[in-house]
Amino acid sequence: MEKDENSNYYFSNSNFFWPVPGFHTITSPFGPRKTPTSGASKVHSGIDIAAPQNTVIYSVTSGEVIFTGFQGANGCTITVKSNNLNISYSHVSPTFLVFVGQTINIGEKIGNVGPKNIFGIPNNPYKDSNGNPTNGATTGCHLHLTIKKDGIAVNPLDFF
Ligand SMILES: [Zn+2]
Repeated sequence: MEKDENSNYYFSNSNFFWPVPGFHTITSPFGPRKTPTSGASKVHSGIDIAAPQNTVIYSVTSGEVIFTGFQGANGCTITVKSNNLNISYSHVSPTFLVFVGQTINIGEKIGNVGPKNIFGIPNNPYKDSNGNPTNGATTGCHLHLTIKKDGIAVNPLDFF
């Protein structure tokens, strides 16, 4: 992993772009975890990067958007296919800046970090302690980044 003068991370060999420049705190790493949020998987499929609501999310690489929508525990999610990688950005704002079928470039704005609570999703089983529906299984605003290689979730940090 390398940093530029603006503290953005890049792949050392293939120039992937850190999705939320300026925010580098990993609040939950990839892999097994002891105390997942209720409804979340015991094996964490990606990394959680702390960032406030509305933080701009940039595509880590070029590719084609293959999904935008609400995806269970992941909440509002954007998935981009790039060769044998599927990159998913979760708990994002329901105001997606891209659409399925769109070709996007590395570093392109694709969305924003979403709110913790989200209303109007039919049959959303995820709720906070106040009974308000949440943006998937989440306790606060962050970006959940998943990278699947040939369909298998791998540690996103290995790419940066
Ligand atoms: Zn997560």
